[in-house]
Amino acid sequence: MMKTGTSLAGVPKATAVVLTLCVLCLLLGLASYSRVQSFFMSRANDEGVADLRLVSVTIEQLIGRYDPIPALIAGDPEFRELLIDPSRADMVPLMNEKLRHLARDVGASDIYVMNRSGRTIAASNYREERSFIGERFDYRPYFLHAAAGEATRYHALGTTSGERGFFFSAPILDGLEVVGVLAVKIPVDPLEDLWRANDREIFVSDLNGVIFLSTDSSLLFRTLEPLTRGVRQRIEETRQFPLSVLESLSFSVTGGGEDPVEVLLGEPGEERRFLSDSASLVLPGWHATVLQPMRLIQTRTLFALATWGLVVLVLTLAMLTIIQWRARLAERMEHERSQRETLEVMVRERTADLDAANTSLRSEIEERKAAETRLRKTQAELVQAGKLAALGQMSAALSHEINQPLAGIKSYAENAAQYLERKRYDEVGTNISHISKMIDRVARISAHLRNFARRPGDQLSAIPVSEVIAESVELVRPHTRRNEAEIVFVRPDQEIWAIGGRLRLQQVMVNVLTNAIDAMRDQARRVVEITASDRGEYVEVRVRDTGTGLPENEEELIFEPFFTTKQVGSGMGLGLSISFNIIRDFGGSLSAANHPDGGAEFLVTLKKAYAPAGLVAE
Ligand code: ADP
Repeated sequence: MMKTGTSLAGVPKATAVVLTLCVLCLLLGLASYSRVQSFFMSRANDEGVADLRLVSVTIEQLIGRYDPIPALIAGDPEFRELLIDPSRADMVPLMNEKLRHLARDVGASDIYVMNRSGRTIAASNYREERSFIGERFDYRPYFLHAAAGEATRYHALGTTSGERGFFFSAPILDGLEVVGVLAVKIPVDPLEDLWRANDREIFVSDLNGVIFLSTDSSLLFRTLEPLTRGVRQRIEETRQFPLSVLESLSFSVTGGGEDPVEVLLGEPGEERRFLSDSASLVLPGWHATVLQPMRLIQTRTLFALATWGLVVLVLTLAMLTIIQWRARLAERMEHERSQRETLEVMVRERTADLDAANTSLRSEIEERKAAETRLRKTQAELVQAGKLAALGQMSAALSHEINQPLAGIKSYAENAAQYLERKRYDEVGTNISHISKMIDRVARISAHLRNFARRPGDQLSAIPVSEVIAESVELVRPHTRRNEAEIVFVRPDQEIWAIGGRLRLQQVMVNVLTNAIDAMRDQARRVVEITASDRGEYVEVRVRDTGTGLPENEEELIFEPFFTTKQVGSGMGLGLSISFNIIRDFGGSLSAANHPDGGAEFLVTLKKAYAPAGLVAE
């Protein structure tokens, strides 16, 4: 918690540091403007020096290439022949054609032959409108020098063609005598095309400071310094340039020495600043100058600084994003951690609750078990108590049943004694046999009672249902007789066997039959009908009476312990409760309902036994 708190608190601090760094870097950029500019200036300077080298080399190559050509061509004897023998004028067309081919081969714009007086008698451009044939060039220094026997080179604006060119000339000799001059004119445009580039201008000025070559055509024929009268006169005489095109260039120069030279070019108000580099050329008095716009250098400087600024800003942005991202990540982790903690607390609480619930459930189970044990014990005691109660009820009835045979036995015994005195042995025998039967009857009743009173075992076996019912009917016979009731039991042809305890079923049947007889006490018709039937898996025993029926709205209660509608002393309300449990222990069921035609009907359902196992004693 503490750790995350610190990292979150650190966010504004880190942001402030990054922003301060960013501002410092930007300020540093601004402060280093002049340094950056001088770097680009020096780079431009280097480029300028390279350009100057290019100019110098190309001019040297041009001169080196064309210098020997006029003399070579002039050596052709046919030209000499044509010049010294006017009758050979027929050679002119052939010579013209020869010159045309030569001009094309050496890359010259024109090659032409002049006679001693400077008139052109053969020319490579003989076919063209601007043909030199017949033209006089005796005013041109290149003619004058060659006519004086000296090969020379010259530059001028063509008077016929109006195109600038370098002129190379050589004398045509007949022995030592100059009979004519051969001149080769080379165009200058290819040179300029070679030097031309977007970001700078190059110009070349001649001995007089006249710009003769320039990548910027507006600078052509501008003069770098005012021409002296003598120079102007010479230019006019040689018709090197029309004087009208020679205008002085307005410019001012700053710097120099160690510092780069800066040139301000143009009319006031429209000046452009350039970084200037100059060098002398192989031609005497000629200079080449490279002008690089300062605007370009400034743009490069600004661009570099802007790039620096952009990089600083992008880095700042990236760092701020990373700081934010880290903060958000820390926040999320903190959130997840607190959620996890809450969850853990909840889980702990729930676990504690569950433990408590478990403990209370366990103690409840223990209690239930103890209660069940108590209940079972009480139930067992109640069964015994119920049995004793039933026994008590029965004993009252049975005492009559036993007293009767006893009285009979007594009177038969007294009679037998009298018959013995009278020696009437036959009658004595008959009486004794009566006595014996009556004793059997008493013994039978006593045997039943003894069995009934005995606590049954838990053992289950196959029991003959019809036989048990018949015995039960027999047991309640005194009660039936006393209440002047009738029990009808039609025994099925075949014995039906069921799972249970013989005496316990007897106890149930005695209880149900006794209740039925009790319920019919005040009825006119007092009949109990018993049916036993095989229902496949089950055996059904129905006991229907013509009594009052089950107490209204309390049908369900009759199986509850101590529920009785009988007078105090007559019933304990345990009989049906015990019977219910006994039948349930057999795996069967005991239920009761009122019959639609009156009276109650009890239904005992038992599991059917398939293998008769004979009588089972309990
Ligand atoms: P007790 O016989 O001691 O009353 P029981 O558990 O045997 O106890 O019977 C409970 C009650 O069920 C009886 O008091 C009686 O109201 C009712 N009862 C039982 N059998 C019948 C029946 N065949 N017809 C009407 N009521 C009956």
